[in-house]
Amino acid sequence: MSAYRHSVSLLSEKCKGCTHCLRRCPTEAIRIRDGHAVINTERCIDCGECIRLCPHKAKKAIYDPLDSIKKFKYKIALPPPTLYGQFDNLDDVDCMLKGLLDYGFDDVFEVACAAEMVTEYTRRYLKSEDIQRPVISSACPVIVRLISLRFPTLAKNLIPIMPPVEIAGKLAREKARKEHPELTDEDIGVVFISPCTAKVSYVKNALCGEKSNIDLVVSMSDMYFELLDTMKDEISPAPISRTGMIGVNWATSGGESSSLLNDRYLAADGIENVIKVLDDIETGSYPCLDFIELNACPGGCVGGVLTMENPYIARVRLQNIRRYLPVSQNRPPRSADGTPFPAEYDVGDFPEVNPVSMFSSDRKTAIRLMAEAASFFETLPEIDCGYCGAPNCRAFADDVVRGKAHPEECVVLAKKKLNENK
Ligand code: SF4
Ligand code: SF4
Repeated sequence: MSAYRHSVSLLSEKCKGCTHCLRRCPTEAIRIRDGHAVINTERCIDCGECIRLCPHKAKKAIYDPLDSIKKFKYKIALPPPTLYGQFDNLDDVDCMLKGLLDYGFDDVFEVACAAEMVTEYTRRYLKSEDIQRPVISSACPVIVRLISLRFPTLAKNLIPIMPPVEIAGKLAREKARKEHPELTDEDIGVVFISPCTAKVSYVKNALCGEKSNIDLVVSMSDMYFELLDTMKDEISPAPISRTGMIGVNWATSGGESSSLLNDRYLAADGIENVIKVLDDIETGSYPCLDFIELNACPGGCVGGVLTMENPYIARVRLQNIRRYLPVSQNRPPRSADGTPFPAEYDVGDFPEVNPVSMFSSDRKTAIRLMAEAASFFETLPEIDCGYCGAPNCRAFADDVVRGKAHPEECVVLAKKKLNENK
């Protein structure tokens, strides 16, 4: 199996070991070693939170450079609805889509169109009887990875459908093959304009379970500056957009769930709120809810670390754009076999990472190490000061039994030992 490709990395020459990122990483993937942050790649879920928080710009996002699109003969842009909210005075989405064509893309396929299809599929899925409730949206890749690492018992609550970006990539490629039968699959480059690091990792690691339909992921901020040059304020550009209000709704928190015509939902955004909701679902706190929409970024995708605009301003702009759109333009037909969505969009079971296996692949050893960590934790001061380089005393205890830290790196234990030896 090839190694997981991350989209967040550290510029150690800029890192001052200040611990801002250490304390807020949702999976406790960061440690401070020799005065610098170190990311544990097995635990990192590429949420981008450390990029957002680092005051010294020592964390960076990895994505494809815009120039790389040139290697394809036929280039298709996949703009997500978040992109529509980045521009001041954008009354007509077609001006922006035309700007993408003028930049050099041969076609554009809006992710919002696939999002409208997923909305309809989700409505049908919620009517199924034999599903685990509340159903959790699987559109944000951070949530899917967070559940597999920290909340594995909730993996069965995730709706097993491809996210809109993957469906958009698949449909865009099929459309190109149909309209241009002379093209081979290798000639076609499907390029997603991403608002966040997590979606870069999603594509690079083919988290849909097979090879992704997307070839490249470029940053929304890079594309933004190019579009400022190519977008023209035409009074009536040729119609390109095929999305309705529902598709545009997906860019902001609450937009996915409010389109489901079902009031029994909860929508939360921001990684800390999301973790609180997942904790609550695990303890059975929401027995009357059908659907949970979770977005790791504040405000939803508009708050992604690769966007340009303040998420609250982007939200208002999207509300203005939506005002002139029909409700939906992409309602898929019902499947003949009565299933909520076609088998080609079904991703099957999501992976579950057993917390025990984080200690050792041998179950017996893992259980012994877990017990040792619990017993060593009892000796720690539980003040979570961070001086040891771990985010809290429990994580430090785990590091010690895994041989990744020494007990005396705890300043309180070291002082105690010093006093005993006096
Ligand atoms: S926030 Fe993290 S990466 Fe940034 S300087 Fe502080 S320790 Fe280093
Ligand atoms: S990207 Fe997220 S999970 Fe990875 S190290 Fe940064 S804060 Fe932690």
